[in-house]
Amino acid sequence: MSPTRTPSARRARDIGLDVRAPKARCDDRHCPFHGRLPVRGQVLEGTVVSTAMQRTAVVERTLLHFVPKYERYEKRRRRYLAHAPPCLNIPVGHRVRIAETRPLSKLVSFCIVEDLGEAARKVVGEDPSPLADDAAPAARTPGEGSA
Ligand SMILES: [Zn+2]
Repeated sequence: MSPTRTPSARRARDIGLDVRAPKARCDDRHCPFHGRLPVRGQVLEGTVVSTAMQRTAVVERTLLHFVPKYERYEKRRRRYLAHAPPCLNIPVGHRVRIAETRPLSKLVSFCIVEDLGEAARKVVGEDPSPLADDAAPAARTPGEGSA
């Protein structure tokens, strides 16, 4: 009940999503928790496949698309470039939740907002694929990158 709120005890901002706030802090302008970046729009899950860029990660998402003619599913995948705030310190191979933001650069308009832990190891062939078919209006045609 004591209103002792020193400016140094700045906590992570509430970004409006039900995610665990990072324990570490950072001074990244584009961190949704410690900077001023608003997140809005789509929230997706994916696996980090590369963190070679500075503060940007490649997040890959696979989904199943039904092909009526063959009554089977085909696997589709899309890669997103997502801003990776330093406070989250995401390693390659972790599943993450990414949220849409305003465009941060030509190709980055998502930001990692939660670390969901290590992804299940992909075993080639025998993969039960616990794919997240949560929502995803599926109408989004995967844009073929112009070569
Ligand atoms: Zn941060």
